[in-house]
Amino acid sequence: MKVDVGSATDIGQVREGNEDSLLIVAPLYAVADGMGGHRGGEVASTLALETVQDLFDRKQGTLAEQVGEANRAVFERSRTDRSVSGMGTTLTAALVDGSRVHLAHVGDSRAYLFRGGELTLLTEDHTLVHKMVMEGEITEEEAETHPHRSILTRALGVDQTVSVDEGDVQIEDGDRILLCSDGLTGMVADGQIREILAETSEPQVAVDRLVKVANRAGGIDNITAVLLAFTDDGSTPGGTEEAAVPYQPTVERPLPQASPPRRSDITIVGAPIPGPPPKDRASAPKASAPPASRPPARPPSRRRALSKVGIWTGVTLAVVTLGVVGLRVYLDTQWFVGVSGGRVAIFRGVPTEIAGFELHSVVLETTIPAEEAESLALYRRLSEGITADDRAGAGAIVEQIRRDLAEQLAS
Ligand code: MN
Repeated sequence: MKVDVGSATDIGQVREGNEDSLLIVAPLYAVADGMGGHRGGEVASTLALETVQDLFDRKQGTLAEQVGEANRAVFERSRTDRSVSGMGTTLTAALVDGSRVHLAHVGDSRAYLFRGGELTLLTEDHTLVHKMVMEGEITEEEAETHPHRSILTRALGVDQTVSVDEGDVQIEDGDRILLCSDGLTGMVADGQIREILAETSEPQVAVDRLVKVANRAGGIDNITAVLLAFTDDGSTPGGTEEAAVPYQPTVERPLPQASPPRRSDITIVGAPIPGPPPKDRASAPKASAPPASRPPARPPSRRRALSKVGIWTGVTLAVVTLGVVGLRVYLDTQWFVGVSGGRVAIFRGVPTEIAGFELHSVVLETTIPAEEAESLALYRRLSEGITADDRAGAGAIVEQIRRDLAEQLAS
């Protein structure tokens, strides 16, 4: 496959700096959207992409593993350099491998496939609103205009480990793959992106048009887009190391190859590995469930968004069928943000109790008064618990609450 590339990153109309970064080093392409203050965001997105590129150059690991290492690099820097503490970044990467494209993804930047005039979203947004849509709390339309649609449940640099979505796309002649930050998709509807791609064959011209349209729509965020246009030139597929390696067994389901994939088809790899307890916390009360020796780690779970009913069912099932040991393991993999002692706190477990047993324990009590957070519409029901994918996700929600409160104060 021959690949023509168009790319652009633009500060937009409102921001004072560009915290997005992009990577174009054939056959590796990526976008990253940094956050955590101007400097922090820029450092996070740049460091993440540099790490991925460096590991790729040294042929170390799979793309998803390289993204995992990038997470560690950003996390370490964030911990050791006060000037960028609390920074994080999204990362969506595509590695062209003959007629295949490997994707690795964390956050709310996106990868789309444009094929036969149709535009298909390949990645799942790791955002609170997406979670709320999956749980049936809000509609897809409401999510698109939700004031807090950029709250991430997963990002690089927030915790020691992160779970990375990965998947494969089998490329056909004429296909195009678009990687972009939310500064594009937050401003330009999918239908309009589709139209522009349909009308514009030259990738650089198409990307420039996308950026222009996003800026015209307000450009409230940095805008980054990388467009790969594939032409079958009869060249033999392969060429990279990874081509010879059978695809990672950790992938539960590959991305669909011909039919347009649905959002729910995106692969989630691995169960979150809870990191060690943070050092800055005063104390962590033990969970109500009695301590039990841990059975062997369970295999990567197929995680699904749980409705409140779903959580109840899950917990009840766990109690009945697995007993206390199983319940403990189940609870250890669940995280949420709630209220403890009048303050916003991160919990491990589920926000409920059964027969007087609270099925959670406080992992980190923040200094944020719960009342302040609950004064913001999005966190009104904080006391009921906002569930997160993992420790990192819970941390990201807390950081977002901080930012939202600061923003409210400023306005
Ligand atoms: Mn952004």
